[in-house]
Amino acid sequence: MTTIDRHARDLPLDAHVHTDLSHDSAVPLDDYARLAVERGIAEVAITDHVDFAPSAPGYGETTFEQRERIVRAGAERWAERGVAIRFGVEITWDSRYAAEIRDHLARYEYDFVIGSVHIYRDSPYAADHVAGWVAGRSLAEIVAPYFDEVAAGARTGLFDAMGHIDFVKRFLTPHVTTADLAAAPELYEPILAALVESGTALEINTSGLRSPAEEAFPSPAVVSRFHAMGGRAVTVGSDAHTVESFAWALADGYESAAEAGFASLAFRRGGERVEVGLTAAPNVAAGRSL
Ligand SMILES: [Zn+2]
Ligand SMILES: [Zn+2]
Repeated sequence: MTTIDRHARDLPLDAHVHTDLSHDSAVPLDDYARLAVERGIAEVAITDHVDFAPSAPGYGETTFEQRERIVRAGAERWAERGVAIRFGVEITWDSRYAAEIRDHLARYEYDFVIGSVHIYRDSPYAADHVAGWVAGRSLAEIVAPYFDEVAAGARTGLFDAMGHIDFVKRFLTPHVTTADLAAAPELYEPILAALVESGTALEINTSGLRSPAEEAFPSPAVVSRFHAMGGRAVTVGSDAHTVESFAWALADGYESAAEAGFASLAFRRGGERVEVGLTAAPNVAAGRSL
């Protein structure tokens, strides 16, 4: 089901949102919180970027203390207005910095931690490199640098969820299509197996639907395969970097989870692991429902 206005309403959680504490977003936390109240999105995880490679954009621009202070203060301001703001993080998984990431997560407490592999200028998938990278390579060889790194991140068990596990398809379009990937489901198996074995949640990231790939990261078929392999934890996030993309197509992500056989989302609020029901939307915005 695709709604015409794909801004979701009356859903319990958007688990992946960036504010102006991220190098690639200019949105103050309050702008999202106001929208969440208006649209009945009951809970929002603020998951700003933290990177460990000095060459990464935004490296070192914020400190843990700064991010914690701003997000926790926002959570206090908005709690009484009916939206729960959580202090999350999206850590760029980069196996070269595994020790630093492990140390950071041992030292600092977040409500919810996403680990994601990103594509920066030095990546084979960056705009300047991608055509040369795909030329003469098999599909397995093309996706290997990205997929292998996602699987490695999943195996660590450091993260509550792995974010956008096939984000690479945004950069590979049109050289590699979603149909090409759909025809090779075995390429996803090592990632899905690592998620199952480590108990890490699979994120359904709906930003893919507004990317050139026009498909969530990952597709509903991959979410179903994850469930069939024994996966028991999924989460859904819009990965908003703008007001316009807040909770965008979130309902598609919930539908993908439900169709795969999941009854709830796996989430964490600090020390408390919780199951968030797919349909349990508290009535935050009075009277508005679809
Ligand atoms: Zn990301
Ligand atoms: Zn993100």
